[in-house]
Amino acid sequence: MNTYESLAELVDETLCQPSGNMRQHNGDCLNRLCNKCGVDKVQLSSEIDESTDVIWTRYEYKNVHQKDGSDIRKIQLVKKEIQASEMIAYFKTLLQTFPAHEFRSKWQTQQQKHLLSTLPIGHCIAIHDYSENYKCIAKEEIQAAYFQRVEVSVHVTVLHRHAALETDGHDSTEDNPSIITEQFFVISPDPKHDHHFTHTAQGLVIDYLRSANSDFHTLHELTDGCSAQYKSCHCIGSFFISRNIKLVKTTMY
Ligand SMILES: [Zn+2]
Repeated sequence: MNTYESLAELVDETLCQPSGNMRQHNGDCLNRLCNKCGVDKVQLSSEIDESTDVIWTRYEYKNVHQKDGSDIRKIQLVKKEIQASEMIAYFKTLLQTFPAHEFRSKWQTQQQKHLLSTLPIGHCIAIHDYSENYKCIAKEEIQAAYFQRVEVSVHVTVLHRHAALETDGHDSTEDNPSIITEQFFVISPDPKHDHHFTHTAQGLVIDYLRSANSDFHTLHELTDGCSAQYKSCHCIGSFFISRNIKLVKTTMY
């Protein structure tokens, strides 16, 4: 029976050790296709009585009902009170996919750093995501009585672009690169995070990049894997072609 100092130590227990000069775990082990390792290798302390009830919290997606009758899926911290055995079983289901997920995430971070350090002139990087919806509250209480509270969506883009003389006072060159990082927020009363919203936000980002740097011609977009709105054909294709922008898409997990 073991106690683990960290999650990394526990995850390591469920994987075969890298052999020879390999620094990475084998792909089959990470994807749980290897029959020599797996989640069953985890031995939890015998001090845990699996039949007792435990109180714990976990993040879950919940449908939150809106005033206009629609539902929005939001991630929330939910309190649980169930048997320890059920909590351990749930933890093991997460462990099934965690190593592959973590590996991809690390790999993508490395790729992003590499892209940033070697970004060709004329290229920009945009990392898109939606924030949770926000409620606007009037600053003065008296106003709150007159105006209905408006819920807004916030679309966030982190931009990395080469500096341009006309905008930044100096040029970025191949020999002396200067990367400018900016945050671009699109705030709208439209609560739906659909492809129409994404399309509009992408258009605004591109128009801004064009105005900031006339050399801009290629956009590297990094988005998360669950955002269906970024995969829609409405967000790619003719939209970028009509603006004469080359698009390179990377999906993050
Ligand atoms: Zn293995």
